[in-house]
Amino acid sequence: MENVVIIGSGCAGLTAAIYTARANLSPLLITGATPGGLLTTTSIVENFPGFPEGIDGTELMMRMQQQAEKFGAQVRYGSSVESVDLSGNPIKLVVDGEALETKTLIIASGAGHKHLDVPGEHELEKKGVTYCATCDGALPMFRNQPVVVVGGGDSACEEANYLTRFASVVYLVHRRDTLRASKIMADRTLANPKIKPIWDSVVTEVQDVRTGKVTGVKLNNLKTGADSDLPCAGLFVAIGHFPNSQLFKGQLALDEAGYFVLSKGAATSVPGVFVAGDCADSVYRQAITAAGMGCAAAIEAERYLAALEA
Ligand code: NAP
Repeated sequence: MENVVIIGSGCAGLTAAIYTARANLSPLLITGATPGGLLTTTSIVENFPGFPEGIDGTELMMRMQQQAEKFGAQVRYGSSVESVDLSGNPIKLVVDGEALETKTLIIASGAGHKHLDVPGEHELEKKGVTYCATCDGALPMFRNQPVVVVGGGDSACEEANYLTRFASVVYLVHRRDTLRASKIMADRTLANPKIKPIWDSVVTEVQDVRTGKVTGVKLNNLKTGADSDLPCAGLFVAIGHFPNSQLFKGQLALDEAGYFVLSKGAATSVPGVFVAGDCADSVYRQAITAAGMGCAAAIEAERYLAALEA
């Protein structure tokens, strides 16, 4: 029987692991399919306190994992939770086919990339359609070629700026005429001569499924209604995220968008089950807020266990 199982290895999960490990609870952390979480798909993180020069997202996560392991956290790398039963105590999980029991559970399952859901997007995924410029931007297929980034938030701006290192031109397609991104990021993006914004427009189709690679996108201008073709070698979709909460549907309260609804602090309606990070936060969604939520969930799990033993 485990004291604490943590689902997820992003900022929230790893911070919860550091805290519960330092409380001598030997937490078991299940990393999920993307060890290190979404921050490993970003380049330089400039706003995590303590790193005035910025820090590579993957390096930050590796350091957090080292810190958690140093204090005794057990990390199951690449493992995923297949099912969870919260109906009784202990809590039951199946992880890669193995049944586990735990007294407390910290859900820090994070979020996944949203899709456009337009024709050609799914068929051409990994053939020019991607959700991570840091992962794929340097591929030969994009070098000295025009590429399209969709979105108007910090992610889209970050991806567009990063892609200017490789692409001949980066078209930033946004459905409105102002960026949602933070001012510093928006200013940097609009000042970059290799980034060409295309305002008030959406991608309606990715071409060319017949050739098996991206050759262009069809655009629709939402103000004029005009359709147009934009040749490109890559489509980078950066339109936000959805919470990874599907496994808990029917067992824990979720809002309309699927985010966990917490009852008090990090606690849920089920005793011993706590939630932290982007899967419960549709508002801030920052590395540092996720880390803070992971800390809160760990302290609550620790207090819950102490009360059980009292
Ligand atoms: P976001 O802020 O939610 O922005 C998503 C963007 O995609 C918005 O501009 C939205 O348009 C657009 N969009 C959404 N659905 C769309 C659709 N179906 N078709 C076309 N466009 C669509 O997401 P994000 O940029 O991933 O950022 C998430 C959070 O992470 C934010 O809090 C952000 O500040 C943070 N972040 C920070 C950094 C950093 O500081 N280095 C980097 C990346 C992300 P509308 O504007 O019209 O809604």
